[in-house]
Amino acid sequence: NRRIVLASRPHGEPNAAHFRLEEGRVPTPREGEILLRTRWLSLDPYMRGRMSAAKSYAEPVAIGEPMTGETVAEVAASNNPDFQVRDLVTAFSGWQDYAVSTGKGLRRVDPALAPPTTALGILGMPGMTAYTGLLTIGRPKPGETVVVAAAAGPVGSLVGQIAKIKGAHVVGIAGGPEKCAYLTEELGFDSAVDHRGDDLPGALAAACPKGIDVYFENVGGAVFEAVMPLLNDFARMPVCGLVAGYNATELPEGPDRTPILMRAILTKRLHLQGFIVWDFADQAPAFQRDISDWLRAGRVKYREDIVDGLENAPEAFIGMLRGRNFGKLVVRVA
Ligand code: NDP
Repeated sequence: NRRIVLASRPHGEPNAAHFRLEEGRVPTPREGEILLRTRWLSLDPYMRGRMSAAKSYAEPVAIGEPMTGETVAEVAASNNPDFQVRDLVTAFSGWQDYAVSTGKGLRRVDPALAPPTTALGILGMPGMTAYTGLLTIGRPKPGETVVVAAAAGPVGSLVGQIAKIKGAHVVGIAGGPEKCAYLTEELGFDSAVDHRGDDLPGALAAACPKGIDVYFENVGGAVFEAVMPLLNDFARMPVCGLVAGYNATELPEGPDRTPILMRAILTKRLHLQGFIVWDFADQAPAFQRDISDWLRAGRVKYREDIVDGLENAPEAFIGMLRGRNFGKLVVRVA
């Protein structure tokens, strides 16, 4: 049983030395338990937070413990009548080949309905994040302008596509021409802006001639600085993630701009709301129904970036925080 544990806590950008690959025995399930064999492991930006001891909405991973993560796993042995060998489930079983579970919290995956990896992407946690954050907090109306950052990733790409279904004018912000072309040519975004280009504020203003009514915040930093002056009165801003700052070790240079932000919130009557996907757990059935329907009808698409081998998870994860992934990042473990 291989497992990747947190070797030490990074200060700034993580590197290979913060992870350690260990080999151990395959655990034995006891009465009522099942043995899970990881098939696919999801890599997600939130894991950077779990590597840090800073206070957050969830406990950090302990040093020497396996990195946390959601997987699609196969039941390899079962002492629980609810699960048969070869059943596929999603589990928070972490960066390892095998784990034991009581069955609590597992979600069944039906490979006849959709490829199993979609349970970690468009039909899983990132998809639900896009759906609930956009529709509950963003509430786009036909003709409004919706802007989303990290737009080629699993959350952002679905935010933009749902906003199109709701009749909005959709602008995606992504890193590089290839990702931008994907947004407009494959996903039907109205335009795409490269945040690595020379003049992000100018390019974004040109793409949003009527200002911004909904900004789905995935990134923070320079992207948010470009967005803020374009926000319309009564704009809504689901604050979903701030990935540009996950490796930051200090506050940015320059004068404190909090008063500018507070003034904008007041004078433009902005609605900013942070959320964690599980806040909207009661919307899971509506999410599954709508996204499954839209997938079948070809109204939403998804893209996956599959990396082979558990041993390559740290490098792939580090690369994701730099935008090296193109689509939902998943490790094929077995
Ligand atoms: P992605 O696959 O989109 O990966 C993150 C992307 O962020 C990178 O590919 C990169 O894309 C972009 N990025 C990284 N650094 C910067 C930067 N400095 N400026 C602009 N873009 C940057 O991840 P997800 O779709 O899984 O997650 C997107 C966001 O949603 C994250 O912030 C994540 O933490 C958050 N999230 C929040 C949840 C919640 O419950 N609140 C649940 C799930 C996700 P590019 O090449 O385009 O720059």
